[in-house]
Amino acid sequence: MLHWLCPHCGVRCETSLPERVNTPCGLCVATATWEQLPAAAHRMIDDAIRRGNIPGLLAMRAADPPINLPHAMDALEYRHQAGVRPGDASS
Ligand SMILES: [Zn+2]
Repeated sequence: MLHWLCPHCGVRCETSLPERVNTPCGLCVATATWEQLPAAAHRMIDDAIRRGNIPGLLAMRAADPPINLPHAMDALEYRHQAGVRPGDASS
């Protein structure tokens, strides 16, 4: 395996693909992808994630532009870290 540090957040990454070395980690790519979406899509996806991870992934795929797997898994983790989680219907 090849190892490098993400140029954005410094997290340790590993890959078997030489062309991926020194590229941003999946979470940084997910963050950049997320920030390109309009606010309406953010609300729709966050509401879906609060209903469950699968609805969240489906909402990402339905967004414009869509977030498809495997990036959607990183985006889901990014939203979890931002405090958006299944079972949290308080907002
Ligand atoms: Zn990173």
